[in-house]
Amino acid sequence: MTTETLTAVLLEEVDGKPRASFKSVKVADLPPYDVLVDVAYSTVNYKDGLALTGKGKIARKLPMVCGVDLAGTVAESRSPAWQPGDRVVVNGWNLSETEWGGYIQQQRVKPEWLVRIPDSFTLTEAMAIGTAGYTAMLAVLELERMGVVPDDREVLVTGAGGGVGSIAVAVLAKLGYRVTASTGRADTHDYLKTLGATAIIDRTSLSEKGLPLQRERWAGAIDSVGGTTLANVIAQTARHGAVAACGLAGGADLPGSVFPFILRGVSLIGIDSVMAPKAKREQAWARLATDLDRDKLGAMTTIAPLSAVFELADAIVRGQIKGRTVIDVRAEMPG
Ligand code: NDP
Repeated sequence: MTTETLTAVLLEEVDGKPRASFKSVKVADLPPYDVLVDVAYSTVNYKDGLALTGKGKIARKLPMVCGVDLAGTVAESRSPAWQPGDRVVVNGWNLSETEWGGYIQQQRVKPEWLVRIPDSFTLTEAMAIGTAGYTAMLAVLELERMGVVPDDREVLVTGAGGGVGSIAVAVLAKLGYRVTASTGRADTHDYLKTLGATAIIDRTSLSEKGLPLQRERWAGAIDSVGGTTLANVIAQTARHGAVAACGLAGGADLPGSVFPFILRGVSLIGIDSVMAPKAKREQAWARLATDLDRDKLGAMTTIAPLSAVFELADAIVRGQIKGRTVIDVRAEMPG
């Protein structure tokens, strides 16, 4: 691509407040990093929703090109590790926080941020997975590390209708786990069963404050919700089970007790996708290539143009997005 001027979603200070809008950015003004990527797709993660709506302070430096991840093709490289034409993905690494992100048609990035997209995935599929899906896989890897194996006891996924949740359900089901999906939306039930959930519970059953120790139900859990939901999930996890905490869609507090940890040996594992080491990322992407059914990935994916990103950001913070939304950053802008 030879375009000298790009269209970006740029967060700038306007009247003393950060405000995001479509702005032109010159290729020459991109960061001075060693690899220039022709960006094909970005996506809408919950964090993008917080950044674009201003409901969360994500950017710590302005002006900021938003978008926490990107997929594309290497255009130029001053690093021997990457050649023009390589298909790459970047997730996290503080994109949209302190480093310019993926809502733009080209971006300069550090070579060590890049992960090669497995051959079995298209660029669109790589972004359908995106940060949400790679985070779900990191959580699955942690459950496996803690000895949670497919057996008679169920594994719970909360926020199941969202991005992290949908991919977690699909991967766990393919691996043979019995997956219970917790959702607040009745219209996601059939969808979640298609992804492989064997049972569905209403999220209100986890949202009221409960006893510090409850009936042992889950061998393990992947939680996107946090707050009282996470406290209840931990209290319902069986002896020596493990809970992977990924998100805060329902709250950032953790109003529980230590009893599940000291009386049942339950483990609570934090998942950090942003600064995960490269080897862990490569492991997660390799496992996604074998353990995520591409048809299911397709069934949970919607593709939208960059021009729709503000509307989608608003929808994701309202909990209205089902599955994953890929942003085509090259689609024609209106006007
Ligand atoms: P989504 O919005 O796609 O999914 C979140 C889901 O949580 C919703 O779809 C909804 O599912 C449920 N939910 C929303 N609001 C509430 C609420 N008030 N109470 C209970 N449940 C609620 O977001 P993502 O999947 O992209 O991200 C999920 C979480 O994981 C976010 O908090 C995000 O910041 C975090 N995250 C963390 C990462 C990490 O590195 N640790 C990386 C990626 C994401 P349903 O309607 O089915 O109930």
